[in-house]
Order: sequence, then structure tokens, then C-alpha cells
Amino acid sequence: MVRAIVGANWGDEGKGKITDMLARESDIIVRFQGGSNAGHTIINNYGKFALHLLPSGVFYDHTTSIIGNGVALNIPYLMDEIQSLVDRGVPKPRILVSDRAQILMPYHVLFDTYEEARLAGKSFGSTKSGIAPFYSDKYAKIGFQVSELFDEETLVEKVDRVCTLKNIMLEHLYHKPPIDPAELMETLHQYRDMVAPYVCDVSAYLHEALKEGKTILLEGQLGSLKDPDHGIYPMVTSSSTLAAYGAIGAGIPPYEIKDIITVVKAYSSAVGAGAFVSEIFGGEADELRRRGGDGGEFGATTGRPRRMGWFDAVATRYGCRIQGATEVALTVLDVLGYLDELPVCVGYEVDGEIIKDFPTTVKLEKAKPVYVKLPGWKCEIRGIRKYEDLPENCRNYVEFIEKEIGVPITMVSNGPGRDEIIYRNESVD
Ligand code: GDP
Repeated sequence: MVRAIVGANWGDEGKGKITDMLARESDIIVRFQGGSNAGHTIINNYGKFALHLLPSGVFYDHTTSIIGNGVALNIPYLMDEIQSLVDRGVPKPRILVSDRAQILMPYHVLFDTYEEARLAGKSFGSTKSGIAPFYSDKYAKIGFQVSELFDEETLVEKVDRVCTLKNIMLEHLYHKPPIDPAELMETLHQYRDMVAPYVCDVSAYLHEALKEGKTILLEGQLGSLKDPDHGIYPMVTSSSTLAAYGAIGAGIPPYEIKDIITVVKAYSSAVGAGAFVSEIFGGEADELRRRGGDGGEFGATTGRPRRMGWFDAVATRYGCRIQGATEVALTVLDVLGYLDELPVCVGYEVDGEIIKDFPTTVKLEKAKPVYVKLPGWKCEIRGIRKYEDLPENCRNYVEFIEKEIGVPITMVSNGPGRDEIIYRNESVD
């Protein structure tokens, strides 16, 4: 049985916490897209961790953690991340890396940095982790697969060919020093030796696991609105953030994904540039940012303050639909207990017309939020374990959101910890 855990919004919905929680009853956790550009924050009995490349299931000793073929694999980064867990007393996780995953090359990080500098004020707000240059190369068919590290002859030929191309750009567009193919070969030999113990035909492994009835979690990064096809293009990430892509990025049949747990944040936050209709500013935003998440809404990778906003039902309904959400986990509800009233964006006004369907980017840029205001509950809800025990206004907020998005909210998260969760029915126990 395969379950996907994905985001309905702009990322940072709390997928890491939900994955860490559900990993307890799972055998295998797979990262299927993205790279070290986004982070999941997890709090458990070993402490507080910001994971970037490893799946959020690495804290259990019964699970196998997999880097699927869809991931941008930064090999030294992965090694450091594994070591940093071991250094903090976490038992060394069992990790497999797909032989079809492609390698994030040192020059991808350089190109990302140079391009952001070249674009200056018009940049995409990249985390400069090399993700966009990586995926460009993958689809331009000049990327390096893990399997290729083990074939010296092919590797030498390809390194030469790719360096010729990259060096023209470095010299003439960015005015930077060229890449030395011999040096790059040396780096790739090191990468080969580092990754060798983990390499696996992941698709075949998962095929067997499915036959044996194992439980597999697919862990998404970022959210629907950052998907390159269905998100706020071009202010998106470079790999698909959708559950459907989980089948491709892990190498499993699409019909095996039975449950798509879509994580929805009880308010909005976003990083990077792009239209954000229900965004708030000034003191109002500062307060929500300060109180938000666990210790404030600041990027797990960059430390950048996140942009803040009220709950956007238009964007979230769309985000759930495009994921194919079968159920929703509503997170960080505890953060909102300080508000007298809670604005919820229920429509967009575009050129004098009210729309309910999330539009393409050109229209989105012109959209103004249409709010309804719900009364606040004005108390702390952390520690509550039963849905009926939540204050009435809090339940009304949850049920209002549920009605707007049209997907059952089966889990309500009211704190960052593993056990801070309220189940509303039996489907996920
Ligand atoms: P992800 O990328 O979707 O995993 O999200 P992040 O880890 O970047 O952001 C979620 C943040 O909110 C983390 O700091 C979590 O510890 C925290 N968090 C998750 N769920 C809750 C919750 O229900 N309440 C509170 N207060 N914090 C939460």
C-alpha cells in the first residue's frame, strides 16, 4: 500500500511532521522529487532536526529511507546529513539511493548563484542549491545518473563534452573561471565512492516490497502551487510537487498510490517571489510570523523570513484538487488562538469579477482577496487530543475550511511534536 504526503500550498505546510508521525507504521519512506533546497523540520525524542535531502522517516530503526530517481541528489550533502544524525545519537538509518537518480554537480550550484546575481532584482528567489540548473540539464539530457559513475569510459567522454558547453557559458555569460574536466573527474570519483554503499535498483526494490505487502510513504517537498505545470509559473520549483509524480520519481505504478494525504496549513506562508493574494504585511504579518510554526516562520534552508497571509480557500481548494487529495491534515492550528477574528479568503476579485477557481499567473497577479471573517477562539489548544474538546469557534474554523476545500480533514495538528495530533476518524490510525 502506498500513501503520498504532499503539500496543498506553497510548501512549509508541516509535511515533515506528518511523515515522521506516519512513518511509525510504515516500512519504506521515499523522497521522489526536489533536492536539498527545501527543509523539513522535525521534533522528536532525539531533538529538533532540519532535514533537507533525507526523507522524514530516518528516525525509526524499522524503516528504510529511499532517495528516488526523481530527486536532485547532492552526494556530499547527503553524506553530511547522514553524519549529522549519527553525531546527535540517531541510529544510522538504512538508506538506499536510486541508481537512476541524477547527481547535482558542483557547477549546478555555481550556475544557480551566478544566474540569480545576473538577474539581480528580477531573480526567482532561488535557494541557490543548484536545483533549476540541475533539472534543466536533466531534461536537456546532459545530466549524470548515479549509474554512470560506475562506467569510467562513458564518464570521461561525457565530462569532456559537458565541460565544453558549460565553459562557454562561464566565460562569456558570467565571466567566471572555467571548469577543469580532470578536477571534475576527481570529484566524481569521490562521489562514486561515497554513494556506492547505498546504490540500489529502487524501482525493482519497491516492486518486491509491494508484492510483500509493505507500507510505503512518498514524501513530497514544497506544495501544489510550486509545481512547474500547475503552480504559479514561473515562480515555481523545477520538479513536480504533485502526488502523481510520486509514481515517476519513485518508479512505481500510479495505481498503487491509494491515499493522498494533503497537508494544508491553517494560515498561509510562502517563500520566494510570486503572487500571493491573501498576503498580509506590517505588524499583522510580523505577529503571525513570530508566533507561527515552531519558533517563527523562517526558512529551514535559508533562514529567510517567510511571507505571511490569511488562509486562502481558493488556492487551497485548487491545491487539493491538483494533488488528488483523498484526505487532509490541517496543521499549525494552535498558532491562531491569539486572534479575535480570522479572515479567510474565499474568492478573488479579478477585473471587477469574483472568481472561485485559482487562475493562471497573469490573472493571479491582478487578483484581490475577498474575505469572510470568522470569530476567534482566544485560547491555547495545544494538548487537546479529542476533536470534540476543541473550542466551538475553533471547530467552526476547521469545518468552514473543510467545506470550502471539499476534502475531509481527517487530522488536525495542534503542535509541532509527533503526538500533537487530533484524529477525526479511524481512517489513518
Ligand atoms: P514542511 O517542509 O512541509 O515539512 O514544513 P516545515 O518543516 O518547513 O514547516 C513546518 C514548521 O511548523 C516546522 O517548524 C514544524 O515543527 C512546525 N509545525 C508542524 N506542525 C505544527 C503544528 O501543528 N503546530 C505548530 N505550532 N508547529 C507545527
